Amino acid sequence: MPNRLGQRLAKHLAQRLSRDPSGGIERTEQCELKGFPGSIRVLDNEEALTEANQQRLGTTFWSDGSRLDTGRAGAGVALQAVPGGPWEHVEVPMGHGHEAFDAELMGVATALEWALERQPLGPIWVLLDAQNAIDRLKSARPGPGQALVLRAHRAVEKLAMRGQPVTIQWVPGHSGVVGNEQADQAAKRAASKQTAPGFEHLSLADGRVYKMPRGWNLDPVAGKAPKRLASRYYQLKTGHAPIGTYLHRIGQRESPECQACKEPHETVRHVLFGCRGRRTGRRALYRALEKAGVPLPTAAEESPEARLFAEPIVTQGLLQFMAEANLFNDNERTAREAESSDAWGWDTLEEGGPGVTLEDE
Ligand SMILES: [Zn+2]
Repeated sequence: MPNRLGQRLAKHLAQRLSRDPSGGIERTEQCELKGFPGSIRVLDNEEALTEANQQRLGTTFWSDGSRLDTGRAGAGVALQAVPGGPWEHVEVPMGHGHEAFDAELMGVATALEWALERQPLGPIWVLLDAQNAIDRLKSARPGPGQALVLRAHRAVEKLAMRGQPVTIQWVPGHSGVVGNEQADQAAKRAASKQTAPGFEHLSLADGRVYKMPRGWNLDPVAGKAPKRLASRYYQLKTGHAPIGTYLHRIGQRESPECQACKEPHETVRHVLFGCRGRRTGRRALYRALEKAGVPLPTAAEESPEARLFAEPIVTQGLLQFMAEANLFNDNERTAREAESSDAWGWDTLEEGGPGVTLEDE
């Protein structure tokens, strides 16, 4: 089933690459010389390794570039949005005519543009193991790699305007750092692929290649989230979610009670605002509401859940809630049953979308 992740990114890449010079011919852009608009950190080996293995506040993208013996190059980016959660990847096949250096820069630019698209909360980190590429990012001077450096700089400037500072940091390669390994593998997979004309294909986390859908009119933020979260988002939004009251109503559960806190009626409102078993997620949601300047729900408010689901600026916070609250892991089997018998399930939404095709690799 197609993952919404990266579809708009793919479009961006397609647009960009169709006007990009190919065959290794580098075009030079006239621009003011300026330094990197974020932070760059290259620590000594031991320190860099220690930091790479530590948790960072914000979101860390791992990038890498690869050039195979066949002469084909590719870039890979890896992201683990939730600690302990699944890894997501973006793979950019570059074909012939590029050096590993170009692939490394492509990895950084892709990571930063993915950050813009995906809109994670907090400061943005990009960790990679190529010091020459990191060094190149310090200036937009003409020369090899300039086009990619400019793309990276523009993305960093946009992120900074959103209040998300960017740090590019060196991680020692081949040191067993999980994120670095993930990016390395993604880059190698990308390099082994033919470049599709116009880049209308994008490889995603589960290793399949998706053709870009057109005309999606679902919530753009939810549409970019991992499929599992996006699915939960639409389920909660419609009330057709694997929660007590709904499962009870469709005869899938004997009681409407909340399995997380034993409250007798597990409603969408309860899950979001009342449940004692979902406090961690609620903290994330309320932080997002405050940041977005959206009033917090009060006990007197009749239907705060409807207000929040109608407010696009809150979507990211709701997705965060669903990720952090680990929402339905207590009963995945029931969840799947509910989805399959649910008129508002993800499959139905997908069938309603035009032009979505999935290709197995
Ligand atoms: Zn509860």
